[in-house]
Amino acid sequence: MKEFISLVVAPKEQVDPAWWFVIQGDNVLVRHDSPRVVIPRVSSLFGLGMSIMRQHYLGRLDGCHCYAVEVADSASPPQGMEFEGLRKIYGLLDDDLFSLAGKALQIIDWDRTHRFCGRCGSETRTHATERAKECVRCGLLHFPRLAPAIIVLVKREREILLARARRFTTAMYSTLAGFVEPGETLEEAVVREVKEESGITVKEIRYFGSQPWPFPHSLMIGFTAKYAGGEITLNDEENVDIGWFAPQSLPPQLPSEMSIARKLINSFLQETN
Ligand SMILES: [Zn+2]
Repeated sequence: MKEFISLVVAPKEQVDPAWWFVIQGDNVLVRHDSPRVVIPRVSSLFGLGMSIMRQHYLGRLDGCHCYAVEVADSASPPQGMEFEGLRKIYGLLDDDLFSLAGKALQIIDWDRTHRFCGRCGSETRTHATERAKECVRCGLLHFPRLAPAIIVLVKREREILLARARRFTTAMYSTLAGFVEPGETLEEAVVREVKEESGITVKEIRYFGSQPWPFPHSLMIGFTAKYAGGEITLNDEENVDIGWFAPQSLPPQLPSEMSIARKLINSFLQETN
């Protein structure tokens, strides 16, 4: 694992090769190095022949400067490179660079959606020393958006609760998840979400781990919990199916290996092995 130091103020001069996270829409520029992909590492983007619409300095990865920049939708990728979605390059790009690509996408998305102040409607400008956009008229600071969401694996003896969400376009089943509401603790969000989606109550809520989920700007906070009582009732606004599943009879389609949902399920499978 490389060491990343998060910084806001860019160096005065850029001479050595830097990592350039070039964003176009929801995609990031990669060079194909079959079967893997890499992020371009050059001293300046001039050589790549693309003009920059917005730019943020991210910090240093093992001493090497990192930039997030946005280019126009019409910009064509340089020879040998492509703009690719994050999901597509998962596992093909080094973990450190993948997580920075997610950070770059979120910062660019935040910048382009906070060009005007939410309070007075005036223009904002990038703050000189903080990761913030500052209103030129009233001074209100707008920080990058981050939406905390809980995700929970509910266990009942040797079974787990999985649902096929209405929003999934495939027959995938996953653990329950939902956004944290203002004024709520994470544990309260777990209890509420499970109750809303399944009708059951849970106990023994334990922290599992977390994962930034840049689609578009969530932070997934994972928990395990034990069944406490109640019968499953399908909330058909949220799910098309929900039920208890034993390790030997899991649904054929589970979340991708990159997701914390899958890590929760895999940890249960290891426990019950
Ligand atoms: Zn304002």
